[in-house]
Amino acid sequence: MSPSSWDVIVIGAGAAGLMCAAVAGSRGRRVLVLDHNDEPGRKILISGGGRCNFTNREVTPERFVSANPRFTTSALKRFGPTDFLDMMKRHRIAWHEREHGQLFCDDSAAQIVRMLQDECGAGGVGMRLSCRVGTISGDGPFRVETSHGPFDTAALVVATGGLSVPKVGASGFGHALARRYGLGVTELAPALVPLTFAEPDGAMMRDLAGIAVDAAVSFGKTRFREAVLFTHRGLSGPAILQISSYWRSGAAIAINLLPDLEALAWLVERKAARPNAMVETIVAELLPARLARARTEAAGLLGKPIGQTPNAALKTLAAGLNAWAPIPMGSEGYRTAEATRGGVDTADLSSKTMAAKAHPGLYFIGEAVDVTGWLGGFNFQWAWSSGWVAGQSL
Ligand SMILES: Cc1cc2nc3c(=O)[nH]c(=O)nc-3n(C[C@H](O)[C@H](O)[C@H](O)COP(=O)(O)OP(=O)(O)OC[C@H]3O[C@@H](n4cnc5c(N)ncnc54)[C@H](O)[C@@H]3O)c2cc1C
Repeated sequence: MSPSSWDVIVIGAGAAGLMCAAVAGSRGRRVLVLDHNDEPGRKILISGGGRCNFTNREVTPERFVSANPRFTTSALKRFGPTDFLDMMKRHRIAWHEREHGQLFCDDSAAQIVRMLQDECGAGGVGMRLSCRVGTISGDGPFRVETSHGPFDTAALVVATGGLSVPKVGASGFGHALARRYGLGVTELAPALVPLTFAEPDGAMMRDLAGIAVDAAVSFGKTRFREAVLFTHRGLSGPAILQISSYWRSGAAIAINLLPDLEALAWLVERKAARPNAMVETIVAELLPARLARARTEAAGLLGKPIGQTPNAALKTLAAGLNAWAPIPMGSEGYRTAEATRGGVDTADLSSKTMAAKAHPGLYFIGEAVDVTGWLGGFNFQWAWSSGWVAGQSL
């Protein structure tokens, strides 16, 4: 079969790949998108509970985890949240803002996929779905062997995403290809993911499953103040998902269950005010009763009147309230992770174009790159921004 020839082939019809293809197509490039899934934008469709948290009001490089968060500056400046909102406006997609500046579709994530498909259609972009991509050779031009036959292309864009949720098509294709072309790939780990715990913490968390509290969760200097949810597997909720992107295996996270209160001073004050009350009853003034009981038990003070509890023991309890430091055993893994930490080393890419410095025709965009956004629409914004700048450069 003689290969058909293209200006640009984009591997991956996800958020970044569709944006890039649409932009390159609108600039007159002959673009072909390949994806092994049978429909484009599967992750967009399942995102944000079906409403796609497509960006955030507060997009800054600090909201990205990367060996070099500054790498994102140029792309985010050139195509930021308002640029994406302009595109949505042209397609008459209604949206609303939720807490922490998160923007969601009013109706459905499917509108975003349709918008990107329409933009691709306007640019004459070709699309091959259910297409397995095999060997890639050359260095501009590239030869791409696929289950739909071979294709030749002047430029190749890798937009195959991260490793999270293999069920919807995630694969390590982009990382493997980067390594083959001599680019670095930083250490990969599930991100935005619930954390799991060994016994006895695990058993205690299971007993508390369903309880959610407003807490501050830290790892090193990074701190998130949001809900923590106890589950049958450990801890989840936005604060835990956020900190999971920073957590390193073997280390403890710090949880402040009473972030607005200095617990020791408060316990000492309650000791004077209600000396006959049981310690767990006092703690339950501020925390759900089952959680109050569990933290009191962990301090060895269950069933003890607070008036007869030495302040040294209250100090231990206070530490377990203001600075509880459980050590996660691991995470729920790529099966449930919303993102992947790590990816193609940004040191090997141009931040202006997303092309590999050593291979000017080879581009990496979206989550395949070592750029992981916080929870709240940042990962999609990175996909739009990196896809747009690559599309402009092709
Ligand atoms: C459940 C869930 C909810 C999420 N919700 C949000 C949210 O609300 N807001 C937010 O900002 N982020 C969210 N994310 C993260 C966001 O979906 C991703 O960061 C984003 O989709 C990354 O875009 P991408 O184009 O790089 O990769 P993807 O969108 O994952 O696209 C990659 C594409 O490449 C294809 N592909 C992979 N391997 C191959 C291969 N070997 N051959 C051919 N094709 C291949 C895949 O089929 C896929 O179509 C969520 C993630 C999950 C899992």
